[in-house]
Amino acid sequence: MTLLEIDLKKLEHNYRSLRKRLDPNSKMMGVIKANAYGGVAEPIAKKLVALGTEALAVAYTEEGVQLREFGIKTPLLVFYPQVENFRDIIFHDLEPVLYSKGSWEKFKEAVKEEKKSDYPVHIKYNTGLNRIGFHPDEGEWVLEQIKKSSFQVKSVYTHLGQTEAPKPNPETESQISLFEQIIQNHNNGSNQKPEYHLLNTSGVFNYPDYHLDWVRIGLGLYGFANHPEWNDTLQPIAQLKTKITQIHQIKSGETVGYNCGWKATKNTRIAVLPLGHADGFSRQYGHGKGWVMVNGQKANVVGNVCMDMIMVDIGDIPCNEESEVVVIGKGIRADELAENAGTISYELLAALGNRIPRVLKT
Ligand SMILES: *Cc1c(COP(=O)(O)O)cnc(C)c1O
Repeated sequence: MTLLEIDLKKLEHNYRSLRKRLDPNSKMMGVIKANAYGGVAEPIAKKLVALGTEALAVAYTEEGVQLREFGIKTPLLVFYPQVENFRDIIFHDLEPVLYSKGSWEKFKEAVKEEKKSDYPVHIKYNTGLNRIGFHPDEGEWVLEQIKKSSFQVKSVYTHLGQTEAPKPNPETESQISLFEQIIQNHNNGSNQKPEYHLLNTSGVFNYPDYHLDWVRIGLGLYGFANHPEWNDTLQPIAQLKTKITQIHQIKSGETVGYNCGWKATKNTRIAVLPLGHADGFSRQYGHGKGWVMVNGQKANVVGNVCMDMIMVDIGDIPCNEESEVVVIGKGIRADELAENAGTISYELLAALGNRIPRVLKT
């Protein structure tokens, strides 16, 4: 039985630790996209609201609709709304991020048709990441539009490309100075007074002078911050545990798994575990790139990861069928495992599949 244990006490620890670090004038937006980074959206959202998180954010409209259906009433930003869903945004009191002339025009139409006024929106500028956002050169157009639209511009923001990189970092500095110019233009060119933000988790640690009105924290709430010292202030909230399904005695020369992915060089024992790439334990953790903890000892994943199962080399680690195994948790950090296999904690966590039951620890 594979379980993802989510510890809400650790979530609270992380929240308080991050809050203490924040400029007292800045507010916290809790980013809970992708099921709260592969966790479980509803209880995490409710806990964050109860702790005092001033707003929440998701990536897509459907995620926001779901949170509203769970009874979450907090201001809720949708970072990447698609024009097809603008009506749903309005029906569920979600706050869209407008990022292009097209999205602006389409949302303006939707608001008009639904006969709304002063609808809360957020404006995103692209200052160098080249993902989504208005080009800084479109700033004048945006300011013109603000004057003749029935939007209440709640905030203006940008997103940095490498907040975890050591300072000084010329790309980040150039993004920040472009954003400072944008702030000035908005303050001078519009009588709406929006709030401003640019930092994610690592940015909060690395750029304490730029907490501004809001920070957008995702990963940190879940216990990671992309840097050993910053990590030390946080506690990973998720533990992935499973149990051995079967143990095989393997003779030297025998192979294990699809395509004879691994060949024993000596007699050993192999444990079969009930999780696979369909659960988000990607094939990139195969062939010893990934490992698990059996009875406190490291056991490497051997051969190819299957859809529903992995095989690990347990040698003479004391254990039996039914023994508990830690896949992520004590003795094995998600960021470590991810990095060893050429990815990042964000991907490992967010990929954990729906087939794995979530269990809350409160
Ligand atoms: C996901 C996301 C965040 C959160 O980033 P973390 O590194 O997880 O804190 C912040 N801002 C935007 C725009 C995002 O898409």
